[in-house]
Amino acid sequence: MAEKRDYYEVLGISKGASEDEIKKAYRKLAKKYHPDVNKAPDAEEKFKEINEAYEVLSDPQKRATYDQFGFAGMDGAGFGQGFSGFSGGFDDLGDIFSSFFGGDMGGFGSARGRTNTGPMRGDDILKRLEIGFMEACFGTTKTIRINVDETCTACGGSGAASPSDVETCPTCKGRGTVITQQRSILGVVQSQRPCPECGGSGKKIRKVCPQCAGRGYQTKTQNVEVKIPVGINSGQRLRVAGKGGRGANGGPNGDLYLEILVRPHDKFIRDGKNILLEIPITAVDATLGTTVDVPTINGEVTMKIPAGTQEGTQLRLRGEGVPDSRGGKAGDQLCTVRIKIDKKLTAKEKKLYEELRELEGKPGKENIWDRFISSFK
Ligand SMILES: [Zn+2]
Ligand SMILES: [Zn+2]
Repeated sequence: MAEKRDYYEVLGISKGASEDEIKKAYRKLAKKYHPDVNKAPDAEEKFKEINEAYEVLSDPQKRATYDQFGFAGMDGAGFGQGFSGFSGGFDDLGDIFSSFFGGDMGGFGSARGRTNTGPMRGDDILKRLEIGFMEACFGTTKTIRINVDETCTACGGSGAASPSDVETCPTCKGRGTVITQQRSILGVVQSQRPCPECGGSGKKIRKVCPQCAGRGYQTKTQNVEVKIPVGINSGQRLRVAGKGGRGANGGPNGDLYLEILVRPHDKFIRDGKNILLEIPITAVDATLGTTVDVPTINGEVTMKIPAGTQEGTQLRLRGEGVPDSRGGKAGDQLCTVRIKIDKKLTAKEKKLYEELRELEGKPGKENIWDRFISSFK
């Protein structure tokens, strides 16, 4: 498979393009490369590429995922299956072509709305996938078990025992719709509705396929490997191409979207690429300064606590946060110092503290309390 081009590059827009700019660029290119208009051999490929880019960039959620993870975020299964047929911006494109080419969309159909005897892509499906805190930080591969409706291998989706068992519906002559006429005071009113005989498919099957009992598909339980990219966070979505809702009339399945839910950690808190952690320090260590081994998601890291460190001080461990999904700089770990006072002292500790207090009370030595009181005067 040829290397995929960046979606922004495909539409010829900048990374910061507005929704309007995206739409404009898409409309322009879609008109130029529509296979009905452009007969160049690569027009159809280009057209698909444009649609795929638009499908992602026109959806703020998908666009955010793409911006952060690139193609890795767009397809958990590794993007091998690519773009599944004509889809996505087609309601939009329908508008364009009905105004430019007299309304005939030919085989390009949307599963929503009007009756269509051509192939229709299935709906996208959204599922939730819960993953562990560390799995989200470092990425992983998850195997999920899903039911997928696959086109029946015996009949290729027609539902018929053999191709000669498919005949054009005699009621609607293959159109999928019937026109009824009603007399009214305004004259004869015509209305169009789905064919009652074939349900809109335009076809009638004489002998059904024994493997799928005429449904045209078979539901299969599959194990799908989903690649969880490094640094993913709750609320982000991964696309698994072709594992969504069933297509109709031989159309491709929709896509499966997995919304990620990251389980919290009992100590580390995730803040984007940074990790927040509270660390307890004794009053003596905070006063005199020390060195501690701090847990991070990468293991223990030695950190210096400077002398005179205050309660609530935030100390940064650079690069010890969540790795960057695109190989850039990792986040940091931000350690908030919590000064802890021992409730139980040994006799010796007590004696030393008392000596310390005596020293602080000496004339000429202004302590913290004295400074507080004098600020009132
Ligand atoms: Zn079949
Ligand atoms: Zn019919």
